[in-house]
Amino acid sequence: MIYILEDEPGIRNLVTYTLERSGFESCGFGTVAEFFVGIRVRVPSLVLLDIMLPDGDGLEVLKKLRSSASTKKVPVMMLTAKDTEYDKVMGLEAGADDYMPKPFGMMEFIARIKNLMRRYDIEIQSENEFRIGKLYVSLPRHDVLVEDNPVVLTSKEFDVLVYLLRNQGLVLTRDQIMNNVWGMDFDGETRTVDVHIRSLRQKLGVCADIIETVRSVGYKIGSRPKT
Ligand code: CA
Repeated sequence: MIYILEDEPGIRNLVTYTLERSGFESCGFGTVAEFFVGIRVRVPSLVLLDIMLPDGDGLEVLKKLRSSASTKKVPVMMLTAKDTEYDKVMGLEAGADDYMPKPFGMMEFIARIKNLMRRYDIEIQSENEFRIGKLYVSLPRHDVLVEDNPVVLTSKEFDVLVYLLRNQGLVLTRDQIMNNVWGMDFDGETRTVDVHIRSLRQKLGVCADIIETVRSVGYKIGSRPKT
């Protein structure tokens, strides 16, 4: 899971979209406050940090990450608005592992992310098997089993389920689900998501309630993965 703290929605969405399309799970945050809520839910394997934020400073966030036992070793890449020597030096001195001056091209960005992951020996393959209670999902085989009985899902239902499973513990908005499963260009309504969740729950039978509705926000699959 890669966390991105960036207040500019255009950049944040493009980055999360590009990461997801490259096979990395990611989650974007627009404020320091939201970011630390996310950190409490799940410790990411990599963090991308903007410097100028509406409710704080990326360098302060970095110091806080470095001073906490659970996040001390998480690699951090700074996204610097100004490609100045000063920002670069400040970031690296504060313990950043890399920095990326904005604006940047997505090809170079992904190459740098992969490089950083290799350097820290982070598993690049995302998880491809899930087991929650009586539900078992295998990505490579496209298998969904409930109490060992196969369940037939449409490809979109499968994608929605996998997206929720990959982000266990996080509440995903209908927009996030739609962008991820149907793509940014999809011109549908968020109601589409509700329709798919409803049929998913029906098909999952005794496992229906692993998908929780979070009122006026979206959906989540409750339990955090045990690491
Ligand atoms: Ca900013």
